[in-house]
Amino acid sequence: ADLNRIRNFSIIAHIDHGKSTLADRLIQTTGGLAAREMSEQVLDNMDIEKERGITIKAQTVRLDYRASDGLDYVLNLMDTPGHVDFAYEVSRSLAACEGALLVVDAAQGVEAQTLANVYQSIEHDHEIVPVINKIDLPSAEPEKVKKEIEDIIGLDASNAVLASAKSGIGITEVLEAIVKRIPPPKGDATKPLKAMLVDSWYDPYLGVVILIRVIDGSIRKGQQIKFMAADSVHLVDRVGAFRPKIEQFAELGPGEVGFITAQIKEVAQARVGDTITDAKRPANEPLPGFKEVQPVVFCGLFPTDAADFEKLRDSIAKLRLNDASFSFEMETSAALGFGFRCGFLGLLHLEIIQERLSREYDLDLITTAPSVVYHIAMRDGSTRELHNPADMPDPSSILQIDEPWIEATIYVPDEYLGSILKLCQDRRGIQKNLTYVGGRAQVVYELPLNEVVFDFYDRLKSISRGYASFDYHQIGHREGDLVKMSIMVNSEAVDALSMIVHRSQAEARGRHMCERMKDLIPRHLFKIPIQAAIGGKVIARETIAALRKDVTAKCYGGDATRKRKLLEKQKEGKKRMRQYGNVDIPQEAFIAALRMG
Ligand code: GDP
Ligand code: MG
Repeated sequence: ADLNRIRNFSIIAHIDHGKSTLADRLIQTTGGLAAREMSEQVLDNMDIEKERGITIKAQTVRLDYRASDGLDYVLNLMDTPGHVDFAYEVSRSLAACEGALLVVDAAQGVEAQTLANVYQSIEHDHEIVPVINKIDLPSAEPEKVKKEIEDIIGLDASNAVLASAKSGIGITEVLEAIVKRIPPPKGDATKPLKAMLVDSWYDPYLGVVILIRVIDGSIRKGQQIKFMAADSVHLVDRVGAFRPKIEQFAELGPGEVGFITAQIKEVAQARVGDTITDAKRPANEPLPGFKEVQPVVFCGLFPTDAADFEKLRDSIAKLRLNDASFSFEMETSAALGFGFRCGFLGLLHLEIIQERLSREYDLDLITTAPSVVYHIAMRDGSTRELHNPADMPDPSSILQIDEPWIEATIYVPDEYLGSILKLCQDRRGIQKNLTYVGGRAQVVYELPLNEVVFDFYDRLKSISRGYASFDYHQIGHREGDLVKMSIMVNSEAVDALSMIVHRSQAEARGRHMCERMKDLIPRHLFKIPIQAAIGGKVIARETIAALRKDVTAKCYGGDATRKRKLLEKQKEGKKRMRQYGNVDIPQEAFIAALRMG
């Protein structure tokens, strides 16, 4: 295709501002799908994918558009992952484009995620086209939002497109703006193949599907290609694009976006950011910016029912086929039995995987406290990474512990600002910046990631009644006064409940955990001490009093049925308990104890 007739763009937006709805409208308007096929949001809908037996995980779609100048254009709409944990994937998608539509809700205005995404887009030298969406809403204030875009982001919004993706207003204007304002890609067809691996996913019919952006040269079916970072060679067996239905082509040339398959079995072999070149006539240098993503949050996943371990193993292995960014290895816990220690890109990623395991694989799981990755310098000069409190070396052998920090941007209506500042302060935050725009404040804090993984996000949302938005990125490791806190039930440490905390917070957290456990562990026939300890030193304690009488004593003497029922109920309750030493700990206790607040 003629480079001048190609436009590669992505849509950036805060969640719910209308990115998917707009994308669907663009597909519909350019004839990608007949109206009757547009029953549901195409780009998001997994069921529709299944129904058609095609993958639209390639939220990336090729649109054919005849512009008002009478010429035909190919518009490649690249979708970007929707949340902060996938920052690197987002950056690769953006690197594959020359421009972006910045969708802002006309009633909500600019939010934290809008900002984070737009700054990335600016870094990639994108031409940014502001689209003010939902102008059909009675509460829409497009002029105010234009001003926000100018004041907060510093973009000229005088020629922002006013649209309603839902009612189909302004869609042609959006398409014309893409053609007229976003520059065409550059590239050289005569040079050796150089393509960026933008995304990869596992498809049950096609195997691993690889989304690429060709920079120079071209890629064809039957070609031997080389992944430069992975240093592997593969034979291309399909080349094509999504319209959004899958369509195969003879080749993809410079500036083009599309997919290939090459008989690859696992996504781990096709890593985002890698450079694809011709095996026989390779490019001299890979594209800049390849990065291997590393998990930053770890936790243990254990089946509630020990009999489900095999099922958990299989399910995790299947998920991993499709997600190279989470890691897992077997873990055994005295309290929870056999399970896996899993690593994630962030908290939301953890939640997604957990949710998928329970929903798609029907697994009932216990999650241990999330832990970040600590760097430990030992007295003997060696260093190690720690992502399981259980592996904490003896404190006397440790010289220094460093913990990861993040820079968080929080966007919040004025009235909640005080409580948000307090929350950040309580979590050892360091305020870097505070600015006001309209009735809202933008606060920038440096925070230890450890303080964010517990329940920061939930707290933020509840304090602000859902109005605060939050975005973060990592800024490296810093020394911290960190200790391992153990929780002991009846004098035995419950491994699944131990956690690494800052010394200044150990006591409060320990007390809190003991109180929770006291309420959650049922009484036994003996007294049960619950203690929080650092090393051998107890810092908090509670005691569960002994049960004095048999439960059935409560029943009226003669009522045998009732007595039996009660005993049965008790037995049922037992199944959901974890025996620990001679103490039964209900599953809810683990979950609840790990929720702070
Ligand atoms: P995304 O999270 O950015 O992909 O947002 P969605 O496209 O999923 O839209 C979020 C919600 O806003 C959905 O309920 C849409 O129906 C609604 N929505 C999207 N565009 C418009 C619009 O132009 N007007 C109105 N009133 N609602 C819209
Ligand atoms: Mg969406």
